Amino acid sequence: MGHFASSTSLAIELVLHALAPARCAACDARVKLLAAFCPACASTTEAAPAGAAAALVYAGAVAAAIVRMKYASRPDLARPLGDLLWRSVEPRAAAWRGALVVPVPLHPVRLAERGFNQSALLAARVVGRLDGRFEPRGLVRTRETPRQTTLDRAARATNVAGAFRARDASVVRGRAVLLVDDVATTGATLDACARALLDAGAASVGRAVVAVAAHRVVAASQGAVQSEPRTRWRS
Ligand SMILES: [Zn+2]
Repeated sequence: MGHFASSTSLAIELVLHALAPARCAACDARVKLLAAFCPACASTTEAAPAGAAAALVYAGAVAAAIVRMKYASRPDLARPLGDLLWRSVEPRAAAWRGALVVPVPLHPVRLAERGFNQSALLAARVVGRLDGRFEPRGLVRTRETPRQTTLDRAARATNVAGAFRARDASVVRGRAVLLVDDVATTGATLDACARALLDAGAASVGRAVVAVAAHRVVAASQGAVQSEPRTRWRS
C-alpha cells in the first residue's frame, strides 16, 4: 500500500471514529462524551503525583489503552489519550504557552511498520491548547535502538544516548520546547531527546507524557535513583 493510500485510509478511519459514539480507550465500552475510560477501567487508574510530568501511573487501563494504540493499530485512541496528556500539561500551560511541541520520534523503520508515530498524534492534541507550534519532525532518530524492554536501567541510557538530533537547529534555537512521549519508563529516551534539543540551542525543554512508570514515581517520592520497574512493557 502506497503512502497516499495508507494516509487516506487513516484519515477515513479517524473520521469514522470521530462520528462513532465515545468508547472507553481500554475496553471499547460506551462512555459519556469526553470520558477516556468507562467507570470499571477508570477505577484501575492512578493519578501521577504532581511533578511527574505525567497524567497517570503506567498501569491498568491506561497501560492497556497505550498498548492498544501502538500495537493494535488504534491511532484513534490519540483523542482520549491526548486529552489525558493535556491533564499533565494544563497546570504548567502558562509556562509553555507558544512553545514548540516536539514528539519523541520513531525510527523510520518502526514508523513504517506502525504507520503512525503515537507521540506525534498525542502531541498534536495539546498544540492548539498551548497556542504552540507543532514540529512533528523537530527531532530525528539517527539510529535504530533495541527495544528498551529488554534492557536494565543503565543499558537503557546507553542504548538511546546520541540516538537523536534536531533536524534543523535554526528551528529550535532560543525556543522553549515541550517534548511529548506516550510513556516515561526510566526517562532515558526523554533525557536523550532533551540533550539533543539543548545541544541545538533550545532555551528550555519541558516534558509531558501520558503515563509514567510506577518505579519512577517511587523513586521521585523517596528520593531514590535506583529501583526496578514493577511491570515491564514494550516501549
Ligand atoms: Zn473500559
